[in-house]
Amino acid sequence: MSVKSVGFYKRLILLALGLIILCSIGFNIVLLIKNRSLEERLDSTQYLPDDAVTVGATELEPAGIIREAPVLDYQMLYPDFKASFYGFSTDLVSDKTVFLTFDDGPSEGTAALLDILKKKGAKASFFINGKSNRLLSNQLKRMTEEGHAVGMHSYSHRYNVIYEDIETLLDDFYRNYLYIKAETGKAPSILRFPGGSINIFNLEKYQSMVAEILRRGFIYYDWNVSAGDAIADATAQSIIDNVVNGVRLCWGPAFVIFHDNDKAVLGEALGSVIDILSKEGYVFKALDNSVKPHVYLP
Ligand SMILES: [Zn+2]
Repeated sequence: MSVKSVGFYKRLILLALGLIILCSIGFNIVLLIKNRSLEERLDSTQYLPDDAVTVGATELEPAGIIREAPVLDYQMLYPDFKASFYGFSTDLVSDKTVFLTFDDGPSEGTAALLDILKKKGAKASFFINGKSNRLLSNQLKRMTEEGHAVGMHSYSHRYNVIYEDIETLLDDFYRNYLYIKAETGKAPSILRFPGGSINIFNLEKYQSMVAEILRRGFIYYDWNVSAGDAIADATAQSIIDNVVNGVRLCWGPAFVIFHDNDKAVLGEALGSVIDILSKEGYVFKALDNSVKPHVYLP
């Protein structure tokens, strides 16, 4: 190896080192410029608190001008259609609490059901549809006076109308709300969706529907025990078995669905259900919107 070639390699190494140092400096300069530009972007981005970007909130424009944010049209419908909600409480609830619920009333059988509940000292909840029969409507007052809950179950119970869109849902339930308020003197705070909160008629839109109902302070109740009383061949014994076994299997409070009707088998079964479960330490309470509901999850 010649002396000349050693010098050549030295220069080559020095050149390489020089290039590495130059590249590092250049890279750092690029990073500095990028950092400056990101900082400038952050400075120019307006901070919006979480509650300023929810639908219906008052929005600050970049210039600091306060204007009304767009509100969903249906949120503006029926401003008095709402309930006071103070959070859930465990006052009414234990693992031995049974919430007996009766849908679709009032009916010709309501008076007899109320008689049985009174005799047994049990409270229940009635999810009511709109009825034009004055004699039946009078039962709503009796329910309230005897300590039962009266909740909404839609005015028409026509799935295809109620679940067509949120506006039709609100139209129908508001009518139901006014009916109950007029008959009982008390505004309802609870409801049951016809067919439950998730059903084949509202599958595409139930999220918006339940969200709007909850936003207005109402609590809706699905069920975890079905009496099976609406099926054609239901017997007193089949109803008793469905309810008693279903309640025993519940891990928390039981929400039992019956249908308010004048079938003799329902009356027969109801008294026995209360007797059997009472002996096992169960208590029968009326719902209000402080009771954490059993709801269907998607
Ligand atoms: Zn129903």
